Amino acid sequence: MKKAVAVVAVLLVLVLLAVLAGGILFRPRLESDPPQISLSTNADTVGATPFAIIVGDAGAGLKSVSVTLSQGGSDQTLASEVFAQPVAEQRIPVALSKVPGLKEGPVTLRVVARDASIRNWLAGNEAKFEKTLTVDITPPTLELVADDRYVNFGGVGAIVYKVSADTAKSGVKFGDRFYPGFPAVIQDHPDHYFALFAHAYDVPADARPSLIATDKAGNTREMRLAYELKNVKYKKSTIALTDNFLQNKVAPLLDDVASKQGTPKEIFVAVNKRLRKVNEDKIAEITTKATPSILWNGAFVQLTNSKVEANFADLRTYTYNGEAADTAYHLGYDLSVTKNVPVEAANSGTVAFAGPLGIYGNTVILDHGLGLFTLYGHLNSFDVKVGDSVTKRQPLGKTGETGLAAGDHLHYGVYLDGVAVLPVEWWDPKWIEDNVQPKLAGHTGTETAVAQQAAKPHKANKKRSR
Ligand SMILES: [Zn+2]
Repeated sequence: MKKAVAVVAVLLVLVLLAVLAGGILFRPRLESDPPQISLSTNADTVGATPFAIIVGDAGAGLKSVSVTLSQGGSDQTLASEVFAQPVAEQRIPVALSKVPGLKEGPVTLRVVARDASIRNWLAGNEAKFEKTLTVDITPPTLELVADDRYVNFGGVGAIVYKVSADTAKSGVKFGDRFYPGFPAVIQDHPDHYFALFAHAYDVPADARPSLIATDKAGNTREMRLAYELKNVKYKKSTIALTDNFLQNKVAPLLDDVASKQGTPKEIFVAVNKRLRKVNEDKIAEITTKATPSILWNGAFVQLTNSKVEANFADLRTYTYNGEAADTAYHLGYDLSVTKNVPVEAANSGTVAFAGPLGIYGNTVILDHGLGLFTLYGHLNSFDVKVGDSVTKRQPLGKTGETGLAAGDHLHYGVYLDGVAVLPVEWWDPKWIEDNVQPKLAGHTGTETAVAQQAAKPHKANKKRSR
């Protein structure tokens, strides 16, 4: 008898353990939380840009999901899935512009999801989601009002255009680069947009940009821009690196990059490649934050009495002991006067940056509005700080030889939306009068075309070249 009692007791304990283990194992399958349903977008108007329906169930996992669209009394199923194994999360992509028969206007999106819980007589917990969206699959309209017949290689083009009121973003797209357009800057035509764009020094001659307009549903219209590219001769130069320059100018800059190890040549390459890239990225970051109004006034000015020591987009080869060490594009003009002379603002604007900037040494960057910036490098001292408003020819500091500079000079650069552009155009009053001013004054059409034909681009370049 005692034995039998003991066996029953052991069996009872085993059954209890089994029930406990089962409870722990199957607890998720007993949960009562329904699945979570959300959309990857908050937009009420949807179109070309796909979005996703995100369905998840942290407990038992998902068992099934169905998605339907209702419009004008008819329903169509977008997705209907039953999962063999419960899944924690499922993303269902939706591209409304690709749904056959869907018309523009309101549409109701319905999602029903069930989890793998054994509640509700094994049916699981159900979640329902419903949202009315507006379908818009028509891109904005785009009309080119004025453009340039000629653009200089490395230089800037200016266009005027109109877009429909639903446009959320517009401008000129050139490869990976984007040059935004600005409304309310053209006299008497507040609804017109003005955009500057660059045919950059590093872009193939036969490449052309597109004017694009995108609405808030992501529908985009593109229009290829046409112009004749004027060749600008860029020079190649060779600069011999001396041990003195490497020790006193290059090596100290390595504080800004990781390693101080290596041969003089390796140290130069670290500065010329890695630090230059870090510095150019920083300049691009500063000069892509455009002010949406014009802060400049007329032609830009070259530093008084300065001599041009080096041109824009020269391809420099640096040599050490007669061997090529590295190359770099020189993205500005080197201007020299005497030592420690006042550096003048090329035009009115605001100070976007004032501080040390690696190879450029002590640097000031001015924001002239509409994406246009000027850069002043190798300064000995500063007379301005970030946020200051400056007028044309106002002193920004004194020239020096900070950064990667052999001798006292000003490195002067012009940037448009993060891209280095030909400075001579902006020094040339005739180029501005012909290409920029008529468009901003609202004079377009034949008048501009005639003015452009008469334009003699980069005359100043020839005059200033050595
Ligand atoms: Zn320079």
